[in-house]
Amino acid sequence: MNPKKKSIAIVAASGCRGCEQAILDIHYQVQSLSRWLDIVYWPYLLGSGEAEWEALEELDVCFFTGAVTTTAERRLAEQLRAKTKILVACGACAAFGGLPGLLNLKPAAGPDRPGAAGEAAAGERFGLPEREPRVAALEQVAAVDYVIPGCPPTPALLWAGFQALVCGPRAAGRLSFAARRLPARVAAAVLAGIAPPRGTCLAGDKAVCASCSRIKEEKKFQAVLRPYEKYEESGRCLLEQGLVCLGITTREGCGGLCPGVGQPCRGCFGKAEAVYDPGAKMVSAIGSTLASDRKEEIERLAAGLTDLSGTFYRYTFATQCALADKE
Ligand code: SF4
Ligand code: SF4
Ligand code: SF4
Repeated sequence: MNPKKKSIAIVAASGCRGCEQAILDIHYQVQSLSRWLDIVYWPYLLGSGEAEWEALEELDVCFFTGAVTTTAERRLAEQLRAKTKILVACGACAAFGGLPGLLNLKPAAGPDRPGAAGEAAAGERFGLPEREPRVAALEQVAAVDYVIPGCPPTPALLWAGFQALVCGPRAAGRLSFAARRLPARVAAAVLAGIAPPRGTCLAGDKAVCASCSRIKEEKKFQAVLRPYEKYEESGRCLLEQGLVCLGITTREGCGGLCPGVGQPCRGCFGKAEAVYDPGAKMVSAIGSTLASDRKEEIERLAAGLTDLSGTFYRYTFATQCALADKE
């Protein structure tokens, strides 16, 4: 390994591999990365295995994707933390528990849980990994230095993350295709060639609404609609039209990708800086705009809101529950 280059690992816990694929989606910029770094461990792309893992001593940066759902993944996260100078939670699963975090809707694992004995027997028979009692985000098992949110993160943010955290001053000014789509503070950090303070989420501070170009008028919910029930093309705010768009509560940084193509925001960048409980805020926002004061009508509209956990905490259920547990 070239000592002038940073050593990088890219690892996956429980997820769909989309985040790793997204790293490859920075296209021809991948090639330029080889000037600054050596990828020493990446099972998905390089087929790294036991020998490469054993050879890992100290890493400069580790991009960790996926949620922690098994005991082996928790140990992996702990060991990587011990070996790595900069540990990055990459993607919604690693950052907030993501979609796997919704498994926490089921009772926590334990010997007394219904079905636990059958699960243990099946695990032994088929060699299934041992599950953790609860699905966790990376920060719940190891200290995280930076977060790159999204499901998956956009190529622009990933490229910025590589430049800010890996390339450093040597890459200043090389924003290239990403520059126009980055939140201001991320672009500023990359241009200055100085990594942002530890603990920074490499995205914006405000909510997705701030970067959404849709016209906001007066919100009047008359029916809660699913995207397939209404293909939106008028340019008006989706929430005003009855589509449950989480742009109010979600951290900006994607440039309003989904509302930009007529689809409601699902919250994959996690909650915005000023939001404590995204579900409570959304219920309040929708409740204040129901277009009726008749009890039966309000009940009919409220009945349209199904799967509240999956709708309002789709990507953040694990971390939001952990926050609630602390109260
Ligand atoms: S954050 Fe999304 S893209 Fe990344 S591993 Fe999880 S589900 Fe897949
Ligand atoms: S609620 Fe959604 S559609 Fe409306 S302004 Fe915010 S992001 Fe855009
Ligand atoms: S609009 Fe919402 S769901 Fe879509 S990419 Fe942005 S944060 Fe994720």
